[in-house]
Amino acid sequence: MHRAPWSPESERLSRRRFLNQASQWSALLAAYPLIPLEGLDGPLADGSRVAQAPVVDKGFASIRKIGDGLYATISDISKGLTTMCNGGFLFGKDAGLLVEGFVSTAGAAFQYETFRSLSKAPVMGGLDTHYHFDHCCGNAFYGANGIALWAHAATARRIYENYAAMQAADRSAVVGPLEARAKDAKTEAARKHAAEYAATVGNIYNMTSASVLALPNRALDPAKLPVKLDLGGLTALVESYPGHSGTDLVVRVPEQNVAYAGDLLFNGMYPVTFDDQATISGWRSTLKTFLSWGKDTVFVPGHGQICGPEGVRMSLDLFEDIAAQAEKFKQAGMAAEEAADAYVVPERFKTVAIFAWQFSIGPTITKLYKEWGAK
Ligand SMILES: [Zn+2]
Repeated sequence: MHRAPWSPESERLSRRRFLNQASQWSALLAAYPLIPLEGLDGPLADGSRVAQAPVVDKGFASIRKIGDGLYATISDISKGLTTMCNGGFLFGKDAGLLVEGFVSTAGAAFQYETFRSLSKAPVMGGLDTHYHFDHCCGNAFYGANGIALWAHAATARRIYENYAAMQAADRSAVVGPLEARAKDAKTEAARKHAAEYAATVGNIYNMTSASVLALPNRALDPAKLPVKLDLGGLTALVESYPGHSGTDLVVRVPEQNVAYAGDLLFNGMYPVTFDDQATISGWRSTLKTFLSWGKDTVFVPGHGQICGPEGVRMSLDLFEDIAAQAEKFKQAGMAAEEAADAYVVPERFKTVAIFAWQFSIGPTITKLYKEWGAK
């Protein structure tokens, strides 16, 4: 194993990169503070399962113990965008598994170095829970260090189709038509949502363009999942569920009731459903499966604080509320495109973050219309 290319220089570069990018993401950063661990419900309430003190806290992310050989990497995007998504690692006496490629190689390196400070076990691999940029733009770290990278069989292709295509395009060709659409919007809400969408796509363009893309080399065929990984006294299952991206994997340790859920679970944020392959009915059924694992399950969501089943229930409640309002829009004869901007965030969800309206609430409504066979 080569030494990880994590140096003061890469820290400095990632700091500078953050300062440049923070201003672009400022609306989201301000809207998505990390819920403190204290005062959590469910299986976390008594404080015995999830360590209060992190092993390491870099601001942009902290890593804490959540079980025997189980650690969670939790990003705090209000303090930096080195990791951006959550992840974690698992190790037994024979092998370790690192979850997520994160948004930058410095993020993947940070997690790897922390793992290495706790375990001498050889690394079985890294694993992308799905293909989205904030989970894969740091993949090159694994490639540079000879670490195998596991993912859903469609992940490599979709990274290439989406982000290599973005890198090959001029920014104006990607963002220009979206900005034009915002200008042509018929209502103020539609204009605001369309402008926010264009800005968010612009941010994603910048982040993917700044990355050297690296593709997973260990494709997991969903038809052959779950797969059991024996890490030596610790058995992890890699499973595939529908909902967020069509490439979603969950890493689960049933013996300890812990699940690394990837973006099939957002804690304190409206589910992000923009993906072509996202399915609302599929996602809702996945969340019900998560609940079936029992009230003692500890979840590491793709974004937001560690949670118990209450975080899963909230995602279901959010889907239910959107569906209830969409149903009324449909009955009132509103077209899907118009309905997508008409949802009103109820008082009880005012503190729930919105990544970007047209990445989350809007597509949830248009997809529900499709599922209902309505136009
Ligand atoms: Zn995602």
